[in-house]
Amino acid sequence: MTARRIGLFGGTFDPPHLGHVAALQAAAHTGHFERIEVTVAGDPYRKRDVGPVLPGECRLAMAHVAFDGLDLVHVSDREIRRAGPSYTIDTVMELREEWDDVDLIVGADLTSQLDSWHRARELAALVRVGVVPRPGGAASLGPTWRSYEIPMSPVDLSSTFIRQRLLSDEDLRHVLPAAVVPMYENFRE
Ligand code: ATP
Repeated sequence: MTARRIGLFGGTFDPPHLGHVAALQAAAHTGHFERIEVTVAGDPYRKRDVGPVLPGECRLAMAHVAFDGLDLVHVSDREIRRAGPSYTIDTVMELREEWDDVDLIVGADLTSQLDSWHRARELAALVRVGVVPRPGGAASLGPTWRSYEIPMSPVDLSSTFIRQRLLSDEDLRHVLPAAVVPMYENFRE
């Protein structure tokens, strides 16, 4: 019997943008996964120094609208329901109760940070890492990680870029899924 494999795409999604959509579509296209779970971090502890983050419920609502219709994708609130910092290892342990294999799906910018994640050695032993390209973020994973590339045309976009500029409604339509635009305009006020 084939192993049941899930892809885990975690993030802050403040806000969810078209780069995330492209990454999820590319991951689905690999054919590796029976499901792809998007987890919205309740407490994105690594971003505490970056500035305020929209409440988890707002980011979760936008993630549903942005991603719900995508092939294989399921948006989860598990990291919002769980108390404390949103550690990926905790989510992986939960998923492993139901799935044979759990792969992390990450943008190339994150690969240089994985060694500093909570319980990184254990995490490296449990997962494989599918890396989507990102402009300016060449993949650089230490030898402890088992990884592979997910082919995709890079999308030059980040939530930081969107937060830092007061983009007009028209501009937002170029970077966010259309249905997210009015929600984000409402939440960011
Ligand atoms: P921020 O600018 O606030 O750091 P972000 O745009 O990187 O946010 P996150 O929610 O932190 O978005 O990222 C969730 C996941 O999506 C991460 O694995 C990240 O590398 C990936 N990702 C984000 N933007 C892109 C993009 N343009 N192309 C590919 N992957 C991306």
